[in-house]
Amino acid sequence: MGHPQLISAKVVIDNRVLKDSNRTEEVLQHEVGHADDARRNTGIYVANSKKNDEEKGKTPHDKRPNEIVANNFQKTVAAEKQASLKAAEQQRKNEEKQRKQEEKRKNEEEKRRKKNEML
Ligand SMILES: [Zn+2]
Repeated sequence: MGHPQLISAKVVIDNRVLKDSNRTEEVLQHEVGHADDARRNTGIYVANSKKNDEEKGKTPHDKRPNEIVANNFQKTVAAEKQASLKAAEQQRKNEEKQRKQEEKRKNEEEKRRKKNEML
């Protein structure tokens, strides 16, 4: 058999975090980063976790290898989301602009038609 593969992961979010939706999303992204890392680099992930346990928190949280990976994952996902929101907003603006141009064109056409009727 090959190495284990993550099929699903349960993420528990602390109540203190749930009150802040931005923080909740950030924590979820971070935790999914751990799950993704554990799935992709199972051996390294497990070894790092074991080392953390043995050190009993000697290395500061954000300096631990598994935390660095999860933090980077979180930043990447957050940046992708921002880019995607920005692109959607730009598309909405473009569609609005197009709609206004079309409206203007129809109004001018109508004006011309009325003017021609009077001639
Ligand atoms: Zn973490």
